[in-house]
Amino acid sequence: FDDRDGVIWYDGALVPWRDANLHVLSHGLHYASCVFEGERAYGGNIFKPSEHHQRLHDSAEIMGFEIPYSVAEIDAAAAEVLQANGISDGYVRPVAWRGSEMMGVSAQKSRIHLAIAAWEWPAYFSPEARLEGIRMTEGRYRRPDPRTAPVHSKAAGLYMICTLSKHEAEQKGYNDALMLDWRGQVAEATGANIFLVQDGKLHTPSPDCFLNGITRRTVIELAQKRGYEVIERAIFPEEFAKTDEVFICGTAVEVTPVREIDQYSFTPGDITLNLLRDYDELVKRSHDMAAHASTSAA
Ligand code: PMP
Repeated sequence: FDDRDGVIWYDGALVPWRDANLHVLSHGLHYASCVFEGERAYGGNIFKPSEHHQRLHDSAEIMGFEIPYSVAEIDAAAAEVLQANGISDGYVRPVAWRGSEMMGVSAQKSRIHLAIAAWEWPAYFSPEARLEGIRMTEGRYRRPDPRTAPVHSKAAGLYMICTLSKHEAEQKGYNDALMLDWRGQVAEATGANIFLVQDGKLHTPSPDCFLNGITRRTVIELAQKRGYEVIERAIFPEEFAKTDEVFICGTAVEVTPVREIDQYSFTPGDITLNLLRDYDELVKRSHDMAAHASTSAA
């Protein structure tokens, strides 16, 4: 991923892709003092950029450090990266971490770095997998108790359990892992939130130990616009037996139907497919609106 042309925004300047390096004694690498974002651009414009960059700030604050750029500055930098790389439909990855000034558990005076990369990335799952619905299996690890880890930060350290669970799921032939939480309740996927359809209503776990995703909140709004009832509550995996539809949602996966979770199978139905289409239309419309706004401004 590192040996290619292009530019990356790095601490305030655009640098060649291959030169966007950091020192091996970076605190962020050894102690996971690192937070990041995942954003999508449609038609050259990021969907909800300020929400993502505010969350980046909030994630850093939870991790005890402050990003030395404002949300508005990060919005502008991310737009600059897309433009400089000529990317229209792609993924944007801001990452902030403690530098290499101090090595040890305590590193309060280390410098905080920020980099923003972007690349073309049309789909997370193959179009066939997305349309048919993906297959999931329960992950080996569980989302920790909020007293055990800073679960509301999009912190690199929390992705250790996601990567391990996703690798294991893939090795068994599944597309993704279902993450339960420490209580055994359904939490989310490894990089997306989850919704269930039961008796024509949407049910989704209360986000008390995982990210309340920007896509999750967008989907709830879209569902309510259609008059679907949305219930946030504790959900246990046994309930999959009386569940008609399941989908996951996140910036990368957008709205993706789920066809199987271990012994349970589901058929993507009207509610899932309507929300999938509503979301696709919304992200495209927001790019049309942004394109229109920039044309009028120019
Ligand atoms: N949970 C996890 C673990 C994630 O990595 C993501 C993606 N950021 C989400 C949920 C969904 O968040 P969003 O909709 O803001 O992308």
